[in-house]
Amino acid sequence: MNSRDIAQQQATGEGEFSTRAVRAGHRRTEEGEHAEAMFMTSSFTFPNAERAKAAFVDDSGDNVYSRFDNPTVQAFEERLASLEGAERCIATASGMAATLALGMAHLQAGDRIVCSQAVFGSTLNLWTKYFGKFGVEVVTVDPFDLDAWRSAMTPGTKLAYLETPTNPRCEVVDIRAVADIVHAVDAKLVVDNCFCTPALQRPLELGADIVSHSATKFLDGQGRAVGGAICGSEADMEPIYLFMRSGGPSMSAFNAWVFLKGLETLEIRMRAQSATAMQVAEWLQQQPQVQAVYYSGLASHPGHELAKQQQSDFGAVLSFEVKGGQEGAWSVIDATQLCSLTGNLGDTRTTITHPSTTTHGRLSEEQRLAAGINPGLIRLSVGLESASDLIADLSKGLSAL
Ligand SMILES: *Cc1c(COP(=O)(O)O)cnc(C)c1O
Repeated sequence: MNSRDIAQQQATGEGEFSTRAVRAGHRRTEEGEHAEAMFMTSSFTFPNAERAKAAFVDDSGDNVYSRFDNPTVQAFEERLASLEGAERCIATASGMAATLALGMAHLQAGDRIVCSQAVFGSTLNLWTKYFGKFGVEVVTVDPFDLDAWRSAMTPGTKLAYLETPTNPRCEVVDIRAVADIVHAVDAKLVVDNCFCTPALQRPLELGADIVSHSATKFLDGQGRAVGGAICGSEADMEPIYLFMRSGGPSMSAFNAWVFLKGLETLEIRMRAQSATAMQVAEWLQQQPQVQAVYYSGLASHPGHELAKQQQSDFGAVLSFEVKGGQEGAWSVIDATQLCSLTGNLGDTRTTITHPSTTTHGRLSEEQRLAAGINPGLIRLSVGLESASDLIADLSKGLSAL
């Protein structure tokens, strides 16, 4: 390596967010490649038997096996850790694998986890159905009710888990206030930062201990790969790393390479998509067929003030309610042409979803209504198309009513 490469390597963890998003974690090989190398290899070789022994037995640091030791995956981990302001990040095969690894490493029978009831459906399912089976006590709370958090936090509580902003109504949970309550009993607060990403919100700076991610959404941002990550202190991440070594829900080098490219454009995508979401939300608010618009960028939204404090922008996801219940919502969705009809979100292409019959379709009607998932509700994850084209498409949709 020449001296310029060495200087660049030493600089990768420094600078502003946008600089670290394109530079952090990149370790150039002696081939001099400019883009990050993709190490598609299951295992690594050793120059001699002694070095092999040292790698296996003495943790010498030589790469061993890609279940836990892949340089492309490590580059992604270092870059995301840098963006979240975390000491360490562990990449996983999916967002759910990140949550699984967290629970496997940090919970045991008899422990309690307190979880916001407004989290991703599979997250709640994983805690109650699977961790519950192994003797972990799962308690759910209304995340906006600080007294509910307070009374749920018993001395046996190990983890508290929340997601903000919530899906699909963009409600904002006060990370700092919940962190103070959680720390009073020496438990750790975990925040799923999927919707804002570190470009718009950094939970660790607001008092959270651990951040979980579905990289599938905005981190990739282009709808290509499934992956996840978990970030926090060295002490909290090491047990997760050891679980990954044994349990194995690891990220592939190929997907890590895709996510590295995604992180490079993360901030400009999040800013551009947030700006378009704001324009679309303001337009929707003026349409006679629309009964309500839920976007924290609107002054009328209950989470507006808090979002301004803990986020640097309002994000790309919004929802709105049309007249005519499910039938109305379906006819609006079916009459749009540009928006992609899919359950996924966080793409450069705008996606349109009917939560009550898809993403939240397995909840009971009671649970749905408690979460504000009314039959007339439509969710948009705004992409990079022009605001005027999106508005024209939604206008087509609304005229079906
Ligand atoms: C999609 C999603 C997950 C799960 O991530 P996968 O990558 O699909 O496993 C977790 N949390 C939130 C908020 C999500 O949107």
